Formats: sequence, C-alpha cells, structure tokens
Amino acid sequence: MTMREVPLRRRDDLTEWHDLAPADCEKCGCNYFYAKDDPDIVWDPGKAWDEDCRDRDCACHVSPVVGMRRSGEPL
Ligand SMILES: [Zn+2]
Repeated sequence: MTMREVPLRRRDDLTEWHDLAPADCEKCGCNYFYAKDDPDIVWDPGKAWDEDCRDRDCACHVSPVVGMRRSGEPL
C-alpha cells in the first residue's frame, strides 16, 4: 500500500478546489502548500511541525492560514 503524504487538491475556505504545490516556510523551514492557480492562497502546517523545524513559534504554526489568502484579502 502506498501512503500519499501530499494531498494533490484541497478546497479553500469557500468551495473552490485547487491544485496544490509544496513550499518551505522561509522562517522555520516547515512545509506548507499553496494553490498553483493562486499562490496567495496557502495551507499552513499549524501544529504539524517538521522534525527539523527551526521555529515552533513561527506564524505558520501559531496562527496558520488554512485555505485562505496569506495577504488577508477575501477569496
Ligand atoms: Zn513557519
């Protein structure tokens, strides 16, 4: 059985589906995802720290943006 770690598609906070691409948080090095069709829409890891996380107090952990725009603009 193959475990698929990376979800290929997720829904944003409304109902749109997006193809996702992985990226590394610049501050702590953890993995997050962004929508390929709109990189401003992101899915932060929240409490899912990577083993080599450099900063567990990073905003992507303490106030994760999940299926919404990083910039705070409405979807
Ligand atoms: Zn981070």
